[in-house]
Formats: sequence, structure tokens, C-alpha cells
Amino acid sequence: MSQIETKEFQTEIRQLLDIVINSLYTDREIFLRELISNAADASEKVRYMQLSGQEIKDKELSLEIRITPDEEAKTLTIADAGIGMTKEGLIENIGTIAHSGSKAFVQRLAEAGDKKDVNLIGQFGVGFYSAFMVADKVSLTTRSYEPDAQGYRWESDGRGSYSISEEVDLPRGTSITLHLKEDAHSFAQTDTVKRIIKQYSSFVPYPVYVNEEKINTVQALWTKNKNEISEEEYTEFYKYIANAYDEPLMKMHFSSDAPININTLMFVPKSNLEKFGFGRMEAGVNLYCKKVLIQEKAKDILPEWLRFVRGVVDSEELPLNISRETMQDSALIAKLNKAVTSRFLKYLDDQAKNEPEIFKEFWNEFSIFLKEGAANDFTHRQEILKLLRFESSKTGEGELISLGDYVGRMKEGQEAIYFINGPTRQIIEEGPYLEVFKNKDYEVIYTYDGIDDYVFDMIREYDGKRLLSADHGDLNLTDEDSASEEEKLLSEEELKEFNGWLKEVLGMKVTEVRESKRLVDSPAIILSHYGTHSIQRMMQMMNRDI
Ligand code: ADP
Ligand code: MG
Repeated sequence: MSQIETKEFQTEIRQLLDIVINSLYTDREIFLRELISNAADASEKVRYMQLSGQEIKDKELSLEIRITPDEEAKTLTIADAGIGMTKEGLIENIGTIAHSGSKAFVQRLAEAGDKKDVNLIGQFGVGFYSAFMVADKVSLTTRSYEPDAQGYRWESDGRGSYSISEEVDLPRGTSITLHLKEDAHSFAQTDTVKRIIKQYSSFVPYPVYVNEEKINTVQALWTKNKNEISEEEYTEFYKYIANAYDEPLMKMHFSSDAPININTLMFVPKSNLEKFGFGRMEAGVNLYCKKVLIQEKAKDILPEWLRFVRGVVDSEELPLNISRETMQDSALIAKLNKAVTSRFLKYLDDQAKNEPEIFKEFWNEFSIFLKEGAANDFTHRQEILKLLRFESSKTGEGELISLGDYVGRMKEGQEAIYFINGPTRQIIEEGPYLEVFKNKDYEVIYTYDGIDDYVFDMIREYDGKRLLSADHGDLNLTDEDSASEEEKLLSEEELKEFNGWLKEVLGMKVTEVRESKRLVDSPAIILSHYGTHSIQRMMQMMNRDI
């Protein structure tokens, strides 16, 4: 029998444990993520040593993480074949505060009142202690990778002290057994444990077994080399993370180290669910740090208008656990958002050039989101504007041009970009608004969507050119001397009299009747002084006076 040493936890750890043990948490299950993440870290270190040719103990042991729930004994065991710990390592890593932020964490928890955000725990380098949320006793055995290292047993009830004793015949690695608290017995149930692992640790890069069954079948695909991944693997992965049954329309797999480390795999689904009336979609990108899930459906990693995108963003620069509040105002997240969004928009622009058919499908399904972005997202507006597509007076039906195409073929002397809203191509072309443009051979963009005029109104200009609605009253399109005095059918006097009569007949329906200089074939035209007709219609719908 070896001697059992009892040691006191450092003061800060005692305070931390006191709070961890005595408070109620909603997210208790994250303890498993923390322990699995530690097991994965320890395995990663062994893998590194193997790669660098170091001598290690039990080198034939494969790097697996084994989880054993025992309902009868009310225990849960997490075992790895990782780097293990020496006695000094144990005392230093578990028992002494490693990170200076722990004090701040304790303070935060203490101040948080009833709603303690336990998710933060890993961020402060004290994830291990989350075990005491569910266990009233933790027994850990460990043996270091060093060839002649001794094995140890570490035990604690989390109440002030821990014990260390020697243990013989241990394999390399660490095994942690949680003796579950009365109210935490469900964590000894196989199904519960499996569910938690699937939720938080699906993409841990080492196999995770629960009672001999491998749980994390889905690989961290985004960290693999593109040319090692088959289309089927991409599709399977997409189905898994998007909860989809079909193939994605587009996928972007991208890695970079500057300006920030990013590893991302993003998908555009085939169809826009919002269109089907499923309600507003939730953000669909999960945030990882080195393959460990930090936040599901992270809201701040892409702008809101990209909520239809599904996928994964992994950055080594993130702290393992970052709380929701921290996410929102973190400069790091903002930087990540900017990098990922710009990259995705560039990808879409490339797709438009290289895969025009796919891009067209994309446009037909998701254009409404790009318009939302163009109107509201100032940061990315210029990149989004490049992606907008329209029919025009110079395209065939169903043929689309970009604003760039339009500007590239503007006529000499043409100052603005013109557009006209209408329900169909035919109705627009039968109306009188195009006459003056036809005469001048100016192209007019056709917008069929009610929201388009609003979007153009917000955008105001593209490439330094104003966006103007063709039904606007003051377009300044006519040449002053187009009709000489002799050609005029009515004198100034007669015109005044006629317009006065017409105004009387129309009454409140119009504010003014005047001679038109823009019409060629049509006898009359209704023009707007305020915005465009469709904006007027929108305002009328909202019962607003204009
Ligand atoms: P962090 O993982 O952020 O360092 P933790 O509280 O989760 O903080 O773990 C503290 C330390 O304990 C780790 O840095 C590591 O040295 C050690 N440790 C925890 N679990 C294991 C394990 N399964 N194998 C080896 N070392 C471990
Ligand atoms: Mg940890």
C-alpha cells in the first residue's frame, strides 16, 4: 500500500469549487464537453510527440476516448490514452490556478446571481472543475507518457482538499470517474451521454466511444485537405449539420491564416425555406475552436442576412469557451465575421463568373436575402451590389445583368441608372414610361419585386451613378428644343386652359397637370414627385399620407 497524501486546494480554486458545487446551473451538461476536450488535447499532445519521433510509453495504444456510463454504480468514466500527468503535473494542473483569469471568473459567477453562465468556465482555463457540478466525488488515475513514469490516483470531493497516491499497472493516459450527485444520475444513462456527445463533441478529432460504440462518426471535414474529400463526404457532412435530406447547391471550403486563422466550410442549401413560409430562419453556422464546438448556430459569425448559410467556422484564435455576451461585443468575433463574410461574398462573385447556371439558381432562390443585405448592411454593401441581378429593356426574358454590366454599356451623356417597377415584363413594356428611354436608347432595369424600389432607394447610387426610377417626375431627360414653336399644336394659352380643365376633372387624384416632354406615342402619363409608384403603394398600404 502506498502512502496517501492529502493536499489543500489553492484559495482561488476553493472559492471556484465552492460556487461550482453550491449553485444551480442550466447548462450542467457542458462538463462532458470540457472533459472530452481535455482528453482530446492530451491525445493531440501524444500525436505530436509521435510525429516528432519522441520516445513514449505504451506507444501501441491508439488515441481513443472511451466513455463508460454505469447506471448501477451511478458513475461516468472518461478515459483517454493521452499524455497523462506526472505527480508534479497533477499538483500543478489540477489544484493550482494556471490562469490568472480564474479570479475574474469566480467574481463573475458570484455576481451573476441565479443565472450563472457556466459556459465561461473553459475560457478561464478551469474547465476541469466543471466536473464538480455533477459529481460529489471525482477519482482520477493517470500515467504520464514518459517511459519510466509512475502512475497516480487523485481524488477529491471538491471541498477544500484532494488526495494523491501511487497506483500501479496503469496504462498511459488519464481516466476520470465521476461519482454522480443525487440530482445528476441521468448522466450515467447511455442515451443521455450519447446525446450530449453528439451535441457538443461530434467533431472531436479522436474517436469517442460510449460502451464500445463509436459516437462521433462525422469527421471534422473542414480541417482535411480539399483534395482528400469526396463529393459524397461533403454531402454527408452537409446533411448532418444542416439537418437536410438533399444535396447543397453550393459549398465553400476555405482556410487562411491571415488576417485571422479561419477554417471554414459553408453551404448554400438548394431551397429557401423562408419562401415556403417556415418563418424566419435561424443562423446556421456553428463556431468551433480546434474542432471543439464553442457555439451552435452562432448569431454573430455572419451578418443576419446570411442566415440561410449552413456550415462551420473554426478558428484557433478563439478561446475554447466564449459566452454569448462576450461573443456579441468581442473584437475577435467582429474580425472573424468580417473575414468570413468577405470571403463568402467573394466566393459568390466567383461562382457568378465560373458557374453562371448555379449562380442563377442561387439568385432565383436567395435574391431576397442579398437585397436585404444591400439595403441594410453598410459594411458589405459594395460587395453585395456586385451580386445583384436584373432583367432590363435590353435583355431577353429571364436573362439577367448586373449593375456593373449596366454601367459598362451606358450611353454617352447618360447620367443615371434607370429602373422601373412592374408586376411583369409585359405590363412594364406596354406602359408609357419607357418611351423616352427607347428614344434615347437608354437601358432601363426592370424590377418585379415590391422590395426592389425600397432597396434602390436605400442604395441611392452605384459606381457614382444615381439610381432613378423611370416614373419619377424630374428626370431631366428631354432636350429643351426638341419641339420648335411651330410644331406645337397648342399655344401656351390653350395649354393652360386645357390643363386647368383636366385638373378640375381629376380633382384630388392629381396635384398638378402639365405638358409632357417625354412622351412619343402615348397621350398621357402619371408621374410621381415623391419616390416611385411602388413606394407610394407601400406607403398607402401602411396607411401613410404622402
Ligand atoms: P485547460 O484545459 O484550459 O488547460 P482545464 O481545467 O480543463 O483547463 O485543465 C487543466 C489542466 O489539467 C490542463 O491544462 C492539463 O494540463 C490537465 N489535464 C486535464 N485533463 C487532462 C487529461 N485528460 N490528460 C492530461 N492532462 C489533463
Ligand atoms: Mg480544458
